[in-house]
Amino acid sequence: MRAAVVGKNRKAEIVEREIRAPGHGEALLTMECCGVCHTDIHVLKGDFGDKTGVIIGHEGIGIVTEVGPDVTALKVGDRASVAWFYSGCGHCEYCTTGRETLCRNVKNAGYTVDGAMAEKCIVPADYAVKVPDGLDSAAASSITCAGVTTYKAVKVSGIRPGQWIAIYGLGGLGNLALQYAHNVFNAKVIAIDINDAQLEFSRSLGATLTLNPKTDDVPAIIQEKCGGAHASVVTAVSRLAFNSAVDAVRAGGRVVAVGLPPEKMDLSIPRLVLDGIEVVGSLVGTRSDLAEAFQFAAEGKVVPKVTMRKLDEVQEIVEEMEAGKIRGRMVVGFNHK
Ligand code: NAD
Ligand code: ZN
Ligand code: ZN
Repeated sequence: MRAAVVGKNRKAEIVEREIRAPGHGEALLTMECCGVCHTDIHVLKGDFGDKTGVIIGHEGIGIVTEVGPDVTALKVGDRASVAWFYSGCGHCEYCTTGRETLCRNVKNAGYTVDGAMAEKCIVPADYAVKVPDGLDSAAASSITCAGVTTYKAVKVSGIRPGQWIAIYGLGGLGNLALQYAHNVFNAKVIAIDINDAQLEFSRSLGATLTLNPKTDDVPAIIQEKCGGAHASVVTAVSRLAFNSAVDAVRAGGRVVAVGLPPEKMDLSIPRLVLDGIEVVGSLVGTRSDLAEAFQFAAEGKVVPKVTMRKLDEVQEIVEEMEAGKIRGRMVVGFNHK
């Protein structure tokens, strides 16, 4: 089979790979498509350690073509996802209390184990969430990471109907954060991005206020026009956005950190203490979060903007993403000509 791996020079490389038969509890998926997430860029660049040779990809959708012994969760013909949360140990304090993505023995697709940017992929059947009928595979691929991560982050923000939420970074994740916040949680959205094209896209998706830190004093405007946001969700790959997000919330506000720039943010202790600000990280979502995120997309409340591409174009897509040329998500279709 053909697959995109972490190659030399920190670039994606297309290689020929053998795939083994599914073992006990595993299913073999013939992949239909896989989106390119900015986390794939971090993995390619070695931001979280050298991963040379690993197959990237964790926004995968495939059809079950074979199951190993003792598989009951999936059957041949089912459509299932390959997410960053590939599996947990199943018995630790996190796995048993609804926080399975924090499992200390977690496996992540396209990072600790081979991922979904390949013609075939093996998954632990109990962990591969099924895609509801009525949601096409390309849209489902975006929900598998970008969607579930932002759905969960908005949940974690505690935002309530009618409140202001500031979303930093309106890329692959951010445009879905906007849609979940606006269409599912009924919040009013402030969209913040350094790229005007993302801001224009955000207005078309229902953002009430759009700001560009290159020309706008973002926290000052949010404090003046909205009295401060009730919460911020930061998907931008920049420490400046994290700092701005803390300044943009009102007293008692919550900042949800999602983006992964390999840097430190500043945090004023008086601001934190005197204004009761909360800063919390949010990591993808559980299987149950993913099932919920899929359902909202199947009902049309959230509509991922996807563009189909070929496997040979993965490195090109990475470069386009870094250059800020992408609206929504680029999705590799394994039968896309
Ligand atoms: P993307 O490249 O599609 O989008 C990033 C957006 O941030 C772009 O629109 C860019 O213009 C904008 N941006 C950059 N600097 C900014 C700034 N200073 N202020 C405002 N906006 C700014 O990337 P993506 O796929 O949406 O991923 C975003 C980040 O989220 C990555 O770091 C990725 O690794 C991370 N991520 C985290 C999780 C998680 O579970 N926490 C899951 C998936 C992705
Ligand atoms: Zn991702
Ligand atoms: Zn565990």
